[in-house]
Amino acid sequence: MSKKSALVTGASRGIGRGIAIELAKAGYRVAINYAGNLDAANEALGLVKAAGGDGFIVQGDVAVAEDRVRLLSETLKNFGRLDLLVNNAGVGPKVRADLLEAAEDSFDRLFSINLKGPYFLTQMVAKQFLKQSLDTSGFRGRIVNITSISAYTASINRGDYCMVKAGLTMMTKLFAERLANDAINVYEVRPGVIATDMTGGVKEKYDKLIIHDERGITPIRRWGKPEDVALAVRAIAEDRFPFTTGSAFDVDGGFHLHRL
Ligand code: NAP
Repeated sequence: MSKKSALVTGASRGIGRGIAIELAKAGYRVAINYAGNLDAANEALGLVKAAGGDGFIVQGDVAVAEDRVRLLSETLKNFGRLDLLVNNAGVGPKVRADLLEAAEDSFDRLFSINLKGPYFLTQMVAKQFLKQSLDTSGFRGRIVNITSISAYTASINRGDYCMVKAGLTMMTKLFAERLANDAINVYEVRPGVIATDMTGGVKEKYDKLIIHDERGITPIRRWGKPEDVALAVRAIAEDRFPFTTGSAFDVDGGFHLHRL
């Protein structure tokens, strides 16, 4: 049986890199997308190969239409077929500004990279999936959107980030409904606080909130790791949820629980 293939956006570092490695372990060939960090992308490719997988790196800004076209065309050129899209690439605001002060350029940047990019990449990939025949296990393709606890948690110093993540939750439902009859399932994976470059600048704050405070914001009192998120994506990639679509998987140490 030929190997399945995946395109993971923002796979050079952090959660995306973890996903690429875990997919390699599951036997996938992986297109490792990155924005500008060539060294990190090459390192990720080395780790994918060390995990027994194969793949290639592809530069592209998901916010840019021509780049999205290139991501898909390079993937098809290398693999001949695409089975899984993971919309992982995302950025936080450069400045955490109060809701009453937040700037329009930050809003535009976050909407372009974190929501418009995944939306139109998914649209293009969905059309590609529809051209492909069913694979031997009976599916045409799978789509995973990496959102965040920010999809439902109000942080008034990064409203733009919260809104785009909430938008991705709705995007998951929309594509799930649209594609369900075509053997294409769509999922949301919702990480909590994960140790990556993105959270490097707020380490002390979250050490306190998760570990040092008396109760802790997460019942499981540790930082999440990229592998924690990657294992959830791998389970989807291995098609462990064939009768599930449009759903969100919380990978957050229990952050989402309402507690008394
Ligand atoms: P990260 O460590 O900052 O890594 C970001 C990755 O995205 C890098 O590979 C980067 O590429 C790539 N990227 C950035 N802008 C891009 C663009 N315009 N086009 C294509 N790729 C781009 O971030 P992370 O913490 O792993 O976060 C990954 C995803 O998980 C994001 O969607 C984030 O919102 C979400 N998330 C993170 C956390 C957390 O606690 N860390 C929690 C919940 C959700 P380069 O290396 O080339 O810069």
